[in-house]
Amino acid sequence: MKIFNSYTNQLETFVPRHKGVVSMYVCGPTVYNYIHIGNARPVVVFDTVRRYFESKSMKVKFASNFTDVDDKIIQKAIDEGVDEKTISEKYIKAFLNDVASLNSRTDYIKPKVTEYMPKIIDYIQELIDIGYAYEMDGDVYFRVAKLKEYGHLSNRKLDDLIAGSRVEINEKKESPLDFTLWKRTTEGIHWHTNFSEGRPGWHTECVAMIEDIFGEEIDIHGGGTDLMFPHHENEIAQSIAKNHHTVARYWMHNGRLNLEGEKMSKSVGNVVFVKDLNVNKLAFRMFLLSTHYRSPLNYSPEALDVFVKEWQKVQKSVEQLYRLLDLNDQLQDAITITASDIIETNQYFEASMEADFNTPNALTALNQLMKAINQKLRQKPDYEWLSQANKSVEQMLFILGLDFKLERLSNENKSLIKDWEKARIDKNFELADELRQILVSKGLI
Ligand SMILES: [Zn+2]
Repeated sequence: MKIFNSYTNQLETFVPRHKGVVSMYVCGPTVYNYIHIGNARPVVVFDTVRRYFESKSMKVKFASNFTDVDDKIIQKAIDEGVDEKTISEKYIKAFLNDVASLNSRTDYIKPKVTEYMPKIIDYIQELIDIGYAYEMDGDVYFRVAKLKEYGHLSNRKLDDLIAGSRVEINEKKESPLDFTLWKRTTEGIHWHTNFSEGRPGWHTECVAMIEDIFGEEIDIHGGGTDLMFPHHENEIAQSIAKNHHTVARYWMHNGRLNLEGEKMSKSVGNVVFVKDLNVNKLAFRMFLLSTHYRSPLNYSPEALDVFVKEWQKVQKSVEQLYRLLDLNDQLQDAITITASDIIETNQYFEASMEADFNTPNALTALNQLMKAINQKLRQKPDYEWLSQANKSVEQMLFILGLDFKLERLSNENKSLIKDWEKARIDKNFELADELRQILVSKGLI
């Protein structure tokens, strides 16, 4: 299995720290609004990564945080005349609804900043104690110049950063590059510490949570490319200073989703919320996976529509195949795949996923299999082949997170369908029509 490691800037063989177990952390949302379709990309990408490992019988310990302390949350709370918790709880609930609607798993570890304050404060205190951070008038800053590795992830040189940085008015900092670990303030939600009354900077949250949840360097840290600098760079800086490792052995970054060529942002006003997306969400998920996760992805209603139609076809064929097997008592839970064409397609699917999660190629494999299934469905049923194909398509859909619930027929409904088919063969049109109406009313055809 190869993964492109953004930290080393190369494709590497993936070897988890502990055999059979994968530890993953993905930066989560700041909960002051609904998520837009650009925010949905890392959700779907890293859920697919998790699913693939799980399909290989690996245990995945997956964590992603909620930033529930932030200027934007405080501002929104003031605007709406409520407390911060009311705002954050509302949008955490909305986020998890959106995640579930994208068929992404919600059963993962979800730390919140408000529940991590003692750990975060301790983390900052320790950075001060070892000389990597300093307190100035109640604020605490990280001493960037002390860390020679700074800039490695985002490929920036310390000297260039210093030369490029604007002369700041903030004279409290030793260097303009030093980033805030603790901000002195009594406005909004805040905590009492040895440094001052205030609240933490964003960059310490993730590293303090990762340290507490995993207790060691993790396998994979994920997030969008836009978080690489400064957020991930600053996570790494603190972790090297305190724990002598780069947080994760593999850093994975997904590319941006653009709206008709432009960056989606609330200030431009071109935001499309996931909750407002008026199409089948699995079709949207398929659209997200149709481009390799590291490449930028252009969204337009027309581009999405291609996948709405594509998904309808897949769904229809999968349902048709399942119904045929069910009706003829051919649904088998345990089946060995022996058909050479199915084996070949499966191998292509797996090789694609093993190559840094090449989901566009994996979708091509799914497409090939669907084509073969559609052809076989038009012929005299070869149940052995169809059962194997059913098993294979089930597996592919699960890994891509495109799986959906299929209901088995009750014995009564099976008989109804069989009677209807027989009436049609016998040209008993009156009975056929009567049975057809019953089947339609039951939603079976
Ligand atoms: Zn983070």
